[in-house]
Amino acid sequence: MRDPEPARHLLILGGTGEAAALASAALSRFGERLRITNSLAGRTSHRAVLAGEVRIGGFGGADALAAYLRAEGIDCVIDATHPFAARISAQAASACASAAVPRLLLLRAEWKRHDLDRWIDVADVPAAAAALRQLGQRVWLTVGQRELEAFSGLTRHHFVVRLIEPPASPLPLSSCDLLLGRGPFNLAEERRILERHAIEVLVTKASGGDATEPKLIAARERALPVVMVRRPVPPAGERVEEVTAALDWLAARLA
Ligand code: NAP
Repeated sequence: MRDPEPARHLLILGGTGEAAALASAALSRFGERLRITNSLAGRTSHRAVLAGEVRIGGFGGADALAAYLRAEGIDCVIDATHPFAARISAQAASACASAAVPRLLLLRAEWKRHDLDRWIDVADVPAAAAALRQLGQRVWLTVGQRELEAFSGLTRHHFVVRLIEPPASPLPLSSCDLLLGRGPFNLAEERRILERHAIEVLVTKASGGDATEPKLIAARERALPVVMVRRPVPPAGERVEEVTAALDWLAARLA
C-alpha cells in the first residue's frame, strides 16, 4: 500500500470574515489533505475562533514573508485580507512571486450603487475630509481609527466615530461621540444611529460585503450624502470574489 500524500500547507492571510469562512470551509472540504495556517496582523484583541493554526503579527516585509513561505513549506497562499489592506496584499504578491508559491486574492465584491444613493466618490481618506467642507456638519465616520487624523482640521464638524475596540489614545477630533461595535450590523441599529445623532453625512471606505452594508441602506432611506473612499488597486494575479471560488482554486492546487 502507498503512503498517503503529505498534507499540503495553505497560508491564509486573514483578518476578515471571508478569511475565517474560508478556513472553516477548506477544513471541511479537504480535511487532512490540507494543513491551514491563518495569519493575522494582531490589530484587535478579540479574535474569532479559526479553523487550523493561527500565527499573529507582521512578517517584517515582503522578503521576510518570502523567507517564511520557504521555511514553513507553504504550498499556496490565499490573500483574504481586507480590500483596504493594500500593503500586505502587495507584499504577498511580491513574496509569492519570489518564492514561486501560487497565490490567490479573495477580494469581496464592491457594493452596488442604487439609483437613489447620493454617493460622493473620493480617492482617499484625506479627500473625504476635504469633501466634508461642502457637506453637513454632523458626520458619521466609519473609516477605522488609524484614518481619523485626516479629519482633525475640521473643527466646526461634529463626528460620530464607530470603532471595533476602545481607542488606545484620545481621538484627534475636537468634537466627537464614540460608538463601539463589531459587525455585522443590522438596518435597525444603523437607522437608530442616524436618527439619534442627527447625522447629515456618512463617510465610509468602499469595503463591500454584507456585514457593513445596512448603513448605506439607512443613509439612502434618509437621502443622506455618503462620502465613499475608493478602494486601492489590488495587485495583479488570480482573483475571486467568493469563498466557494477560492475552494475550487484550492481543489485544483491539491489535485
Ligand atoms: P496593511 O496596511 O496592508 O498592512 C500593514 C502591515 O501589517 C503589513 O505590512 C504587515 O506587516 C502587517 N499585516 C497586515 N495584515 C497581515 C496579516 N493578515 N498577517 C500578518 N501580517 C499582516 O494592513 P491593515 O490595513 O493595517 O490591516 C491589518 C489587518 O486588519 C489585515 O489582516 C486586514 O485584513 C484587517 N482589516 C483591515 C481593515 C482596513 O480597513 N484596512 C479592515 C478590517 C480588517 P509586515 O510588513 O511586518 O509583514
